[in-house]
Amino acid sequence: MIKKILNLIFPTTCCMCGKIYSNWICPKCYLDIKKELEFKIIDEKNFRIFFIGFYEKQLRQLLLKFKFKDSAYISNMFTTLIMKNEQFVSKIKNYDYIISVPMFKKNKLIRGYNQTETLAQNISEKIKVDCLFDILTKIKENKKQSLLNEKERVENVKNVYSINNYEILKNKKVLLLDDIYTTGNTIKECIRTLRKAKIQKIDVLVIAKRN
Ligand SMILES: [Zn+2]
Repeated sequence: MIKKILNLIFPTTCCMCGKIYSNWICPKCYLDIKKELEFKIIDEKNFRIFFIGFYEKQLRQLLLKFKFKDSAYISNMFTTLIMKNEQFVSKIKNYDYIISVPMFKKNKLIRGYNQTETLAQNISEKIKVDCLFDILTKIKENKKQSLLNEKERVENVKNVYSINNYEILKNKKVLLLDDIYTTGNTIKECIRTLRKAKIQKIDVLVIAKRN
């Protein structure tokens, strides 16, 4: 009921064209972006990466908007796109927890939200896998990875994450979530940190992977 009233006041719109549409992406825009969707799984050395497309064209535009403008609502559209692929969903459902790559607290306060948390929450609700926030935290403020060279990037993320509750993670299957996978240094450091809690398995879900 509340949802229905809210929908009347703030109707859901297509994240691509802005038309009022209930499911965050209208059929016309869906046909358009569908051509870009890959729904791939790539095996890294000791984890897998699930992603829905490459970081280019419209998906890149949407992710830029999602990240740099106050557009957290786009997470709903990404979730809608994921939910349309049953095979993909059946694989990412197979985890005990979703954990999103954390931001440094001060930066989250300045921005007002962490867009990856919003995305994690949305996906968690739909695929019915619990989200854990504040279990993996970022304890040091580091430089922006995009401003550094390859060697500096590896150094820059070292020991910036910490675990608050080891017990809850023990023997669990964790799906680590971020919006984009680029060089992977941030994600690999999160994984290295999470493994200290003797988790059973960890894989990664991102919206886009850099080609
Ligand atoms: Zn549209």
